[in-house]
Amino acid sequence: MSADKIDGKAAAAALRERIASAVSHFKEQVGRAPGLHVVLVGDDPASAVYVGSKEKATEAAGMVGKVHRYPAGVTEAEILHLIDRMNRDATVDGILVQLPLPDHIDSAHVLDRIDPAKDVDGFHVINAGKLAVGESALVPCTPYGCIHLLKERLGDLSGKHAVVIGRSNIVGKPMAQLLLQENATVTIAHSRTADLPALARQADILVAAVGRPEMIKGDWVKPGATVIDVGINRLRPSEEGGRGKLVGDVAYDEAAEHAAAITPVPGGVGPMTIAMLLANTLRAANAREGLEPPQ
Ligand code: NDP
Repeated sequence: MSADKIDGKAAAAALRERIASAVSHFKEQVGRAPGLHVVLVGDDPASAVYVGSKEKATEAAGMVGKVHRYPAGVTEAEILHLIDRMNRDATVDGILVQLPLPDHIDSAHVLDRIDPAKDVDGFHVINAGKLAVGESALVPCTPYGCIHLLKERLGDLSGKHAVVIGRSNIVGKPMAQLLLQENATVTIAHSRTADLPALARQADILVAAVGRPEMIKGDWVKPGATVIDVGINRLRPSEEGGRGKLVGDVAYDEAAEHAAAITPVPGGVGPMTIAMLLANTLRAANAREGLEPPQ
């Protein structure tokens, strides 16, 4: 058996098209475009690439994108001051602070200063709390994208056993909450979980968000399972197949022998993350203008 490849690139493109037409509708009604402001501190090349892609996607969707660039030596007070200004600015619907921040800046302070209604990354404790109690919230983009792919593929997730490997605040925990909202039976695994391969083999839906290249082997996958690989790991040139090749947390070829469907890396979850950022910005903009959220 060889699994179907879940095409995140195509799903993200379709979603971005729908968002672009909802943005036109928003502009007609409100007389301005939704605005997404991104804060980038320092000169980490990976962060610069992510922010560049977000800026391009924002503009392609017809929104206003603005990047606030600061040198690595900027003080925490300056960043907090910028966030206060953006919180007050009526043309700013979404605020995103690109992580990681330099060590002298406390990320938690910065993230918690963002108005939760503009927190399009969904990292504010108010949004995390709302998600946990099942209230409408801005949800972290990566797990939001994973749920979108799963619902597109499987329809109803009720009663499915989902195993989420990883319990970070930005992927694993919100992923588990979203699956629970969809009435899946959810198990969260982590580095202290006993006999992880046996647990993974029970999963109808297996989500890997670990950050360890190809850790999940083919025989960890239940026949017919749906596998979502969140991991993005760049191999060192010295590693086999290296030259900076990107791999996921799942050994793709082996897992594809057992799964019914699986996301590739790259081209699976990654493209969905930016699409969901645009979706969150549009949701935030509609909510701030008292409009119905787009379907
Ligand atoms: P974190 O490092 O914050 O969390 C990793 C989790 O994996 C932790 O809960 C950790 O457990 C668990 N873990 C680590 N080693 C093992 C192990 N041997 N067995 C079982 N569990 C283990 O990572 P993130 O959640 O931020 O990211 C996970 C991956 O997803 C990374 O590869 C990252 O690059 C990628 N990512 C991709 C995105 C995308 O757009 N596609 C966006 C965000 C992340 P414990 O808590 O016990 O330490």
